[in-house]
Amino acid sequence: MAHTPYPESYYAASANAVPPRPALQDDIETDVCVIGAGYTGLSSALFLLEHGFRVTVLEAAKVGFGASGRNGGQIVNSYSRDIDVIERSVGPKQAQLLGQMAFEGGRIIRERVAKYNIQCDLKDGGVFAAITAKQMGHLEAQKRLWERFGHTQLELMDQRRIREVVACDQYIGGMLDMSGGHIHPLNLALGEAAAVESLGGTIHEQSPAVRIERGANPVVHTPQGKVRAKFIIVAGNAYLGNLVPELAAKSMPCGTQVITTEPLGEELARALLPQDYCVEDCNYLLDYYRLSGDKRLIFGGGVVYGARDPANIEAIIRPKMLKAFPQLKDVKIDYAWTGNFLLTLSRLPQVGRLGDNIYYSQGCSGHGVTYTHLAGKVLAEALRGQAERFDAFADLPHYPFPGGQMLRTPFAALGAWYYGLRDRFGF
Ligand SMILES: Cc1cc2nc3c(=O)[nH]c(=O)nc-3n(C[C@H](O)[C@H](O)[C@H](O)COP(=O)(O)OP(=O)(O)OC[C@H]3O[C@@H](n4cnc5c(N)ncnc54)[C@H](O)[C@@H]3O)c2cc1C
Repeated sequence: MAHTPYPESYYAASANAVPPRPALQDDIETDVCVIGAGYTGLSSALFLLEHGFRVTVLEAAKVGFGASGRNGGQIVNSYSRDIDVIERSVGPKQAQLLGQMAFEGGRIIRERVAKYNIQCDLKDGGVFAAITAKQMGHLEAQKRLWERFGHTQLELMDQRRIREVVACDQYIGGMLDMSGGHIHPLNLALGEAAAVESLGGTIHEQSPAVRIERGANPVVHTPQGKVRAKFIIVAGNAYLGNLVPELAAKSMPCGTQVITTEPLGEELARALLPQDYCVEDCNYLLDYYRLSGDKRLIFGGGVVYGARDPANIEAIIRPKMLKAFPQLKDVKIDYAWTGNFLLTLSRLPQVGRLGDNIYYSQGCSGHGVTYTHLAGKVLAEALRGQAERFDAFADLPHYPFPGGQMLRTPFAALGAWYYGLRDRFGF
């Protein structure tokens, strides 16, 4: 049988040791079969186990193999679309619910880390950095908006204040969210997987779901086994392929790339990011970076629509890093990798149910570390018969990409090119 290892990355190289998990080779029965062991799947599994469900997780490769084990590690709250845009689309009542939930994912991560003693280099503090006056105005408006929804912890930063927390001369100001922060993403996923098993859940790696037999008693088939379940949760996100054709039609996998420097040493690391906050800029095609536990700079940026793997990642991302930090010109890059997230046309997550018993959440379009943790809770609530928060997400409108699966990539790239120009010229 094929064995899919982790792609080479700083995270794979510094992952906490875990025993391998055997592939499914039997015909088993459970309450909930979760497809995918990223944050969405693991968070769902944990909430369900905590409420007495029996849970089996099927993972095509290894725990955290997808975006959850490769991302920038930034705990960024809220959604990839502003809450006032959401409000105009779904009305004040649903927007109120979604707005209240927007900072919950970060809390869930911290609760998980504390409750299950997960070693993942958790640090508090995330900065949104404005490059243009227009972006700064947008941050000011966002802060006012979030206060309307009861989130009062955000701090606006002028040019002098942001220079105290990040040694980059590009920024004219920013916003600090102390409920944001950063983590070693793969170690968070591995810790959550261990927590799932500590509660009696089962995880099978190297066990792709290859077919779902739908109906009153659904069955998930893997190459060597099957799982009969009362409910299925589909959590394969950008790696799901065509297993559930309805989900593939309204979303598009996109690649984004990350590089990691050699260790910088305490002094240089502290000079760049004295408080060890993570940073993302406010461009549409944004750069994001932070320090690792061993004081490397982890820097991500760029989007490849359609998720083709670029040939030379360092050649794409290093110039962006040097633009932010010219002082790193002699620093070596030790790791470079790519990973896929799932884009939707609205940039809002797709949440819903197929038939009576197949639930899904996917497509948070970039900012997913916190959302996926919230999604697990909301899906678990729905399975327990409390669907109010699930419905708030499920009611978000979604449209297919213009041009269908064949033309969605060039259309999205064209849109990104336009927004990239807007970023560059500030209009
Ligand atoms: C490079 C990169 C950087 C990012 N940086 C950030 C960041 O800093 N902050 C942030 O908030 N968000 C970031 N994101 C987004 C964030 O990582 C994702 O939104 C989030 O991890 C998605 O989690 P998930 O569980 O839904 O999907 P994934 O983590 O992709 O997990 C899906 C899992 O399902 C498995 N799977 C798929 N199909 C099957 C099947 N048929 N059978 C069994 N298993 C299957 C896959 O192998 C995979 O392990 C980034 C994404 C990428 C790619």
